[in-house]
Amino acid sequence: MQQDPNCIFCKIARGEIPSRKVYEDDAILAFHDISPVAPVHLLLIPKAHVPTLYDTDDSHAAVLGRMMAIAGRLAKEQGATDGFRAIVNTGRVGRQEVMHVHIHVIGGPDPLGPMIVRKGSQGD
Ligand code: AMP
Ligand code: ZN
Repeated sequence: MQQDPNCIFCKIARGEIPSRKVYEDDAILAFHDISPVAPVHLLLIPKAHVPTLYDTDDSHAAVLGRMMAIAGRLAKEQGATDGFRAIVNTGRVGRQEVMHVHIHVIGGPDPLGPMIVRKGSQGD
């Protein structure tokens, strides 16, 4: 399996860095974000190292599909029962900080803020 020895999420996948796991199978791992922005904030990762969504192709379709397919179940199990947001930050413009593809699953009892604050929208 493709791994990057210096990647923090690869280290989590290998168990070298602790995480609060909520789900694991042969190909994917889900754990609580260390710095949650809402009561439910999970990260879903492929165990194999893939830096960004720019680096994916058909060979990643199954694992990415599995991550997306299980997001709702995990969100619900963690208490986000009335909706959540799934986000994949990508690259500089997407403000991706950890270069190992991950889906944020963010929710909780209350509606989240706007997804993107539109420039110049204040006072509209
Ligand atoms: P992104 O900006 O999309 O790359 O998000 C990276 C996320 O990883 C942030 O929400 C961080 O809080 C989270 N994070 C960084 N290190 C850890 C860690 N060791 N365990 C859990 N979450 C982490
Ligand atoms: Zn990695």
